[in-house]
Amino acid sequence: MKLYSKENITRPIAAMRRTGKFVHSYIITGEKGLGKRTTARYLAMSLLCDNHNACGECRQCRRILKGQHPDFIEVTKEGRIYSVNDIRSKVVEDSFISPNDCDRKVYLLTDCDGWTDASQDALLKITEDPPDTAYFIFTASSKSVFLPTLISRSMVMEVSEADREGCIAAMTEHFSEKGVAVSQEKLSAAADAFGGNIGRCIDFAEGDEVLAAAADKVRAIADAAAKGDAYTLAVLLHSLSGDRNEMRSALEMLMRVIRDAAVIKAEGGGCIGCAEKQSRIMAQRFSESALLKMYDAAGEAAARCAGYCNAQAAAAVLAGKLGAV
Ligand SMILES: [Zn+2]
Repeated sequence: MKLYSKENITRPIAAMRRTGKFVHSYIITGEKGLGKRTTARYLAMSLLCDNHNACGECRQCRRILKGQHPDFIEVTKEGRIYSVNDIRSKVVEDSFISPNDCDRKVYLLTDCDGWTDASQDALLKITEDPPDTAYFIFTASSKSVFLPTLISRSMVMEVSEADREGCIAAMTEHFSEKGVAVSQEKLSAAADAFGGNIGRCIDFAEGDEVLAAAADKVRAIADAAAKGDAYTLAVLLHSLSGDRNEMRSALEMLMRVIRDAAVIKAEGGGCIGCAEKQSRIMAQRFSESALLKMYDAAGEAAARCAGYCNAQAAAAVLAGKLGAV
């Protein structure tokens, strides 16, 4: 199995595979779509693979990839977040039971965002002094989700965006495995819209209409921002705010466009956003600090949309900030 553009993760895992000395607790962080779950599976394969190399082909690896391995436990939540009860009954108590088929057991707890300190407290003892056979992987959007004590016992890995080449290669592999034909043009458009976020690129290429609509609107928003047209900017942002998901996707794309402008200004590097023309105009029009402010404002609005904040209010605040630059 190959992890695209994730050398910062594959290198330490390969080192652990070589020595056979694995850490028992892992924290994987990064935004949605960057491959946290894929990284967790790769790690589980590294721990359970018959060939000790996450080959993707042996019996253990194939069962992990299908989500059918009895010793790779993807822990479910009873409610929206992991409760203390989930942690005690499904992780702590279970980890003292011997593995079914391998000599190790791997627990995966995904999307730990929002879980309580009490749930994490329930894990402290087991992560400090784990049974020899038990390994734990936690994923969340950011490291700040975790208590310092849990962080100190874990190896923290941040998944980052793939480069354009890696992103297109990963999409090509994904679609050929599924036996779906997707044109190069479509793959390229997906990479334009979502940069190195492989998960979102795949959603886009699969024809996610919300994402396609967001990509169209973000070009118009970038255009208005590049021209300093505060009125159109406010109207466009307001029109997005009816759908929280569409707005969040659009804001993430907008952040890439602004980031491209900053990169062009600093060193004239390559663009990864969906509106290169607008990025170039913005680079000419705005100072570096103004672009940074815009980037932060878009990031803040995206975070608000991800939470439970009113999307219209977020749009109004952002329009004010972008228009004022
Ligand atoms: Zn294998």
